[in-house]
Amino acid sequence: MRNIKFIVIHCTATPPLTPVSAIQNYWRTQLHWKNPGYHYILPADGTVQRLLDEELIANGVRGHNDVCIHVSYIGGVDEDNNPRDTRTLAQKTALYYMVCLLREKYPAAVVQGHRDFAGVHKACPSFDVKDWLKEFVP
Ligand SMILES: [Zn+2]
Repeated sequence: MRNIKFIVIHCTATPPLTPVSAIQNYWRTQLHWKNPGYHYILPADGTVQRLLDEELIANGVRGHNDVCIHVSYIGGVDEDNNPRDTRTLAQKTALYYMVCLLREKYPAAVVQGHRDFAGVHKACPSFDVKDWLKEFVP
């Protein structure tokens, strides 16, 4: 099994209704990636789609991918492409469900946003993951 140290939350930085296929197509044709950017992607309707086996390495955070599981919701920008938390209630629920599931599987892993890695100059996932998780712990 891979030594997972981080469960990383992302946004796709696309409009919230962007189809998964369009995002996959971008990775393949524009970035020439063999593997997807994330293991799981969450459309606005609250479904969860697995894009890659957890044992394989996705392209979520350069330099850290060998120790990460990547989970992304679709959205994360407003009409002018500025960072905004566009998560629907269904997406928030699905995201929390994935965090619980992965935490159980990788108890030693830290859950954090893409932007929480040192040296990352991105807004991804357009919300504060640690603050959000506090809502669930009384
Ligand atoms: Zn990201």
